[in-house]
Amino acid sequence: MQVAVFSTKPYDRRFLDAANTAGGMKHRLAYLEAQLSPETAVLARGSGAVCAFVNDQADAAVLDRLAEAGVKLLALRASGFNNVDLAAARRLGITVARVPAYSPEAVAEHTVAIILALNRNIHRAYNRVREGNFALDGLLGFDLKGRTVGVVGTGRIGAAVARIMLGFGCRVLAHDPCPDAATQALGVGYVTVPELLAASDIVTLHCPLTPGTHHLIDAAAVQRMKPGAMLINTSRGAIVDTPAVIAGLKAGHIGQLGLDVYEEEADLFFEDLSGQVLQDDVFARLLTFPNVLVTAHQAFFTAEALTAIAEITIANITAFEATGHAVHEVSTERLA
Ligand code: NAD
Repeated sequence: MQVAVFSTKPYDRRFLDAANTAGGMKHRLAYLEAQLSPETAVLARGSGAVCAFVNDQADAAVLDRLAEAGVKLLALRASGFNNVDLAAARRLGITVARVPAYSPEAVAEHTVAIILALNRNIHRAYNRVREGNFALDGLLGFDLKGRTVGVVGTGRIGAAVARIMLGFGCRVLAHDPCPDAATQALGVGYVTVPELLAASDIVTLHCPLTPGTHHLIDAAAVQRMKPGAMLINTSRGAIVDTPAVIAGLKAGHIGQLGLDVYEEEADLFFEDLSGQVLQDDVFARLLTFPNVLVTAHQAFFTAEALTAIAEITIANITAFEATGHAVHEVSTERLA
């Protein structure tokens, strides 16, 4: 099957080619650097499948154009599918497949890397030492042992974060509409979101972006947080209302903020914009705080995760071509 691969980076090509070769080179992978959008959807003409990533647009307008171009499968090389209009896909007869789990540890470990870096001010220490400034003022951290970590969403990634933080000697609280028995058995207590926010020294978000979790962390939620608490979001940007969090940082109510995702990241992340003037004033403000650490959606970025993403994506496409059904179909998971 010919597959139009949108938002291709050199690493996508490397891992998808390897998985396609291992699978017997069944598919013609047409690599496109362009993001999927109403303007670029036409590039899929002649392809039975489209392979897309987190910031590719797959709303009704785009899916209409893909259906016109003859596309039957949208294979996401990601677990989140908040960028896809599933009802439109179903109406148009486009199957949507995803990679539900590739390496939860990759995202969990990056989350913990941000927590540790922010707590001990590693981002600031790195620059200071290189400039010959060996003073410690402003770098004071706190022991993680004995602190309370609130995990919102204890699916694959949240549960892995909970396990790691228990290893540091933290008390872990969680909120999830479907509590995980294995996580509970480790001693994690499930509470309501307001209880979690009020009790946690570190709040870390691992729920999917849905209408119910959009701006879950808004001005009211920030006020409910413990003064000086750390907020971490490695899930999806729009779970956090960024201006509300900036207000919390300015007031000193939020002690530290760590982000791997940002609501408006589609115009920024995965590109080298270092020679351009940053147009997003909200994002620019975030970068001015010494107690904010932003990575550009890199939590998934390990060799193990990219290998698994590529292999599962190729398996989805192969199964769809053979049987009319992908291995991991979002459409049936969500709408059946
Ligand atoms: P998952 O489906 O295994 O777990 C999600 C959990 O969130 C489930 O247990 C679900 O019950 C829970 N949940 C749903 N609504 C909730 C709510 N309102 N409050 C609290 N919990 C709620 O998903 P996962 O594999 O653990 O991934 C979690 C999220 O991480 C994904 O949705 C994706 O957006 C994000 N992610 C980010 C990266 C990255 O590179 N930064 C990589 C992969 C995934």
